[in-house]
Amino acid sequence: MELTVIGHWGGYPKVGEASTGYLLENEGFKLLLDCGSAVLSQLQQYIKPSQLDAVIISHYHPDHVADIGVLQHALLIDKYLEGYEKNLPIYGHQEDEIGFQSLTYKNITTGIPYKADEVLHIGPFQISFIRTIHPVPCYAMRILANGKSLIFTADTAYFLDLVEFSKGADLLLCESNYYKNMENAAVNHMTSQQAGKLANLAQVKSLILTHLPHFGDHQQLLQEAREEFPADIKLASAGLKITI
Ligand SMILES: [Zn+2]
Repeated sequence: MELTVIGHWGGYPKVGEASTGYLLENEGFKLLLDCGSAVLSQLQQYIKPSQLDAVIISHYHPDHVADIGVLQHALLIDKYLEGYEKNLPIYGHQEDEIGFQSLTYKNITTGIPYKADEVLHIGPFQISFIRTIHPVPCYAMRILANGKSLIFTADTAYFLDLVEFSKGADLLLCESNYYKNMENAAVNHMTSQQAGKLANLAQVKSLILTHLPHFGDHQQLLQEAREEFPADIKLASAGLKITI
């Protein structure tokens, strides 16, 4: 499978870039992971919104879902201009009723619930979930295709069960909203050091730090994570493509 970073900023997008959004492709199937602020704009650098086959949402914070409404507008306009005929499935949990309802729009998109304890099949992808530590219900995902595995932590504080969940993954796409010395602040998000520790304990093959902060020097995040996981680590960046 191929991963393209559409947006990697925590909280809000930096000028000309986007907050959380990743395009995951396998066997021609195009799945969007989260649809944060400015994702729709940035996605169009790679594909047309009408080419998406499915979307999955980790939680309903604006930096992960802000562009769901404009994605729906784009598909509606495409219906009139180009004859868009699909009804795009958008997978989300149902623990936020208003958030879940927002995934359904006319005959353009349909919200489909996923359950934490059930494996979800979307196209060629097999997805399992673990609830994270965050102020609102949020799920990390283990995504399998062609015998390869991607862990997307979504938003979370560090917790031990995430190690078992991430065990042996080919790629850990891990949030790193804080620097090492900010562990006291990291009650809803992880530090660079914790991301490295998770990668090390879970014995993943490679690590990408994402959900990056709007302060400090990101090279420092990389160094701090590398102290724990002296292996393949990258910082997420707009347009970064990784074949898993
Ligand atoms: Zn969040």
